[in-house]
Amino acid sequence: MLHQALSRLYEAAGHLDITADVFEKLKSPRETTQARLVIRMDDGASKSYPAWRCRYDDTLGPTKGGIRFHPDVSIDEVETLAFLMTMKCALINLPFGGAKGGVQMDIHNLSATEQERLARRYVQCFAKVIGPNRDIPAPDLYTNSTIMAWMADEYAAIVGEVTPAVITGKPISLGGSLGREDATARGGYYLLLHQAQKLGLRSGARVAIQGFGNAGKHIAQLLGAAGFKIVAVTDSKGGIHCSSGFDVDKLIAAKRQGSVTSLAGSDGVCTLPADELVSVNCELLVLAALEDMVHAGNAARVKAHIILELANAPITPEADKILNAKNIVVLPDILANAGGVTVSYFEWVQNRQGDSWPIEQVHARLKTRMEQEGDAVWTLAQEKGITLRGAAYVHALSRLAGAIGAQDMQHFLIAEAPKR
Ligand code: NAD
Repeated sequence: MLHQALSRLYEAAGHLDITADVFEKLKSPRETTQARLVIRMDDGASKSYPAWRCRYDDTLGPTKGGIRFHPDVSIDEVETLAFLMTMKCALINLPFGGAKGGVQMDIHNLSATEQERLARRYVQCFAKVIGPNRDIPAPDLYTNSTIMAWMADEYAAIVGEVTPAVITGKPISLGGSLGREDATARGGYYLLLHQAQKLGLRSGARVAIQGFGNAGKHIAQLLGAAGFKIVAVTDSKGGIHCSSGFDVDKLIAAKRQGSVTSLAGSDGVCTLPADELVSVNCELLVLAALEDMVHAGNAARVKAHIILELANAPITPEADKILNAKNIVVLPDILANAGGVTVSYFEWVQNRQGDSWPIEQVHARLKTRMEQEGDAVWTLAQEKGITLRGAAYVHALSRLAGAIGAQDMQHFLIAEAPKR
């Protein structure tokens, strides 16, 4: 995975004047820590789970990235996602480097008390890696604000002082930011609406959504309220289709009971095999589940004209080429889902200021940043005749390369400074 992801960096470099030092710094992670988390289960037995935290690059600031709990988590996945976070933070112009963490486990097999023990054990094992000025975790797949609250509490117990800025995505009552819950989807939504005219996307357009967790649910709410028609949805249990468009509240209620698939059979809703979601007739396909979901084997079947990548790395490089040949426009992950880390940054700033911003301020700042960086990426793509993903990488890499070069220059100046 990391090799695949780095290929996009090397492609971007072809459009910039980059020194070898930049690649030397970005070709592999700065630091990956591995641990085995041993916890006591409710029945008295003990169980252990492999876990990782990767700080990929900290040129631009303390590293930032979510923690996921998922059976497929591996060191390769964690390092790849940490690399993507490095590019994302650079692209959206945050004073952060990139990181990621994960535990290889199925959260559905753990009770709430076991989940709490696991979350606290993670922090005990990685307490020296994380820190408000070093590495700041956040929620990701199958982790949420409750888990962040346990982690922040454990960190405070270890260091002996309340340190809310060590973790973002916390409950509001514990220093979380207003607007963090739907930030990933909202950032993608602002980007999409801002570029709708250029994309040829009209209100009323049909939308298919893969994944109905934090990102998928909120984009359904936002697009539904803006007049888009959600015609197909999948989650880990399967999918459903409704050509007249779903009532988003009903989708949310069904998911709360376990899966959106429980709506099948009601009001013109039929079952949709999960792997057929990408080939549903629609104008917009939102990918909000896992990596590599659109690949060489199914990319040719995509019917949408536009793809919004709220998930990280949901399209393989081979699939990218197929989609590009079909003139399908992809709003790439490092831009489209950057709303989450942007509001996480706002949360970190508020914690450090001892302040709390009103929701309007959070939304306005998020909108400005998504639109500004979205415009920069769009313009670069037009100027260089490349895809939006290519342009996003060029934009991010030029910021990173500038910072890496400035560090080198400082070292050079110190070394060469005349003796007084
Ligand atoms: P989540 O755990 O809240 O939801 C994941 C959803 O995906 C669930 O509905 C699950 O049922 C579904 N899913 C799992 N396997 C699936 C499959 N094979 N087909 C269809 N659906 C499947 O996670 P999330 O926070 O919404 O994250 C989703 C994606 O967005 C991930 O790639 C994550 O890295 C990315 N992302 C999330 C955030 C954030 O702030 N939450 C920020 C940036 C990127």
